[in-house]
Amino acid sequence: MEKTCTKCNLKMKPAKIMSFGASIKIAEKSSKLLDNKGSSISFYVCPKCGIVEIYADKPENFA
Ligand SMILES: [Zn+2]
Repeated sequence: MEKTCTKCNLKMKPAKIMSFGASIKIAEKSSKLLDNKGSSISFYVCPKCGIVEIYADKPENFA
């Protein structure tokens, strides 16, 4: 999945954040996390302006 910075029109680079233990997940409700209806998240950084965008890897779980 390729992301482009809307300000600089440059290709954004995937970024990792350090989390100790399990990977960070999000869901509409915490009960959906328990049912595995959530999503892991990915971070992208613009190498010019430094803006960081966060994307759900499984947006369909929020449909
Ligand atoms: Zn930028």
